[in-house]
Amino acid sequence: MPTQFYSTNDRSNVQPLKEAVLRSLPADRGLYMPEEITPLPASFWESWRDLSLGELGFQVTRHLLGDAIPDEDLRPLVEEAINFPAPLYQLTDKLSVLELFHGPTLAFKDFGARFMARLMGYLTKDDGRELTVLVATSGDTGGAVASAFHNVPGTKVVILYPKGGVSDLQEKQLTTLGGNITALEVSGTFDDCQRLVKAAFSDRELSERLNLTSANSINISRLIPQSFYYFEAARQLPEGIKPTFIVPSGNFGNLTAGLLAQRLGLPIEKFVAATNTNDVVPRYLLGGTYEPRPSVATISNAMDVGAPSNFARMVDLFARPANPAAEKLTEADALDEMSAHLQGLAYTDTATRHAIREVWENHRYALCPHTAVAYLAAKDIETPGHKIILSTAHPAKFLPTMEEELGPGTVPIPERLACLTDIPKVAESMEPDEAVFLTWLG
Ligand SMILES: *Cc1c(COP(=O)(O)O)cnc(C)c1O
Repeated sequence: MPTQFYSTNDRSNVQPLKEAVLRSLPADRGLYMPEEITPLPASFWESWRDLSLGELGFQVTRHLLGDAIPDEDLRPLVEEAINFPAPLYQLTDKLSVLELFHGPTLAFKDFGARFMARLMGYLTKDDGRELTVLVATSGDTGGAVASAFHNVPGTKVVILYPKGGVSDLQEKQLTTLGGNITALEVSGTFDDCQRLVKAAFSDRELSERLNLTSANSINISRLIPQSFYYFEAARQLPEGIKPTFIVPSGNFGNLTAGLLAQRLGLPIEKFVAATNTNDVVPRYLLGGTYEPRPSVATISNAMDVGAPSNFARMVDLFARPANPAAEKLTEADALDEMSAHLQGLAYTDTATRHAIREVWENHRYALCPHTAVAYLAAKDIETPGHKIILSTAHPAKFLPTMEEELGPGTVPIPERLACLTDIPKVAESMEPDEAVFLTWLG
């Protein structure tokens, strides 16, 4: 049976995979979740430690999606999407770093974006019309999406970014691919970019005619592949050792994917949510109220989120009983479960900078500012077994901060980033004006 997806705001609003992936958001503004999440079968657990990351990903996806996609199509789709490793780097005998930055844009967002791009291409291949993907970016997402969709047949991508609002290297990641990727440099802010994207989606006629879709981070197809690397990490530990995962968090997609892996049966000791001073969730978990608020800027800027968009998914997962036949918990009980099982810790930029220096001095290992936040939490918690911190980006993506702490030249720039400096930027200029943008689009 193909799995259906419901809205977290209305469990009776159920859609098939194609609808959930191409629409991204249900009309009632909830988030899509798979109707059934059951533990993987015994046959999986017999061999999972010997599987490649691609095969692991295929088996997890196959189990989650049911027979929505035939195996002979799904296996190569997952293998092409996840064609880079996720190694564990052991820092001490109690603590390892899961390096999620070996993809083309050097951040974990490659997992979600590459899977989504191939899935969207696959789901629309017989529609006989091109899919236009619109995305507004303040930095990393645009690069991951551009790289992921580059050369995917039947797709065209338009990326809007604020002029002067992204780093030079981030801009190069958006503007040097060409082909089916078009970069629009908007003379305005990130909010202006988002406003233009929204205007395009609100124009029903245009949206239908151009077959518009969004590549935003709450798309369910970005979450699924992020669960793979929790299995991959646990597989690399000696048998019988249950990991505690410490996840540097902003919109909480990464942590939600970990909870998903746990519901699929992966033995996990516990999860810790680590944030910068945008600490809405840690505050809540410490017994406060859940109060989204405007974000503040930090050196771990990909986690500067004041209203985490995956919170509703976390509540939904905690509401699912261990026994699938049992009733779902009420929202109040699910929130209690979450507070009981999830620890949250928040750190300042000063502490984060200190952690970057400390790990370099003790281990000659460079942590990006986001990963450093997780490192601080790992030091502060007590847990049996082994601690794994998720490293969400390569430190070279945040060179100014790294060089302030460690001195120039300590963090080598990977060839994939370095080679971009010589490629000329190609972007079209755009006024932050809805009418001008809609005319340009189509
Ligand atoms: C997006 C991002 C995060 C935050 O991940 P969420 O899934 O939004 O919690 C952390 N670090 C880096 C480098 C990121 O790009």
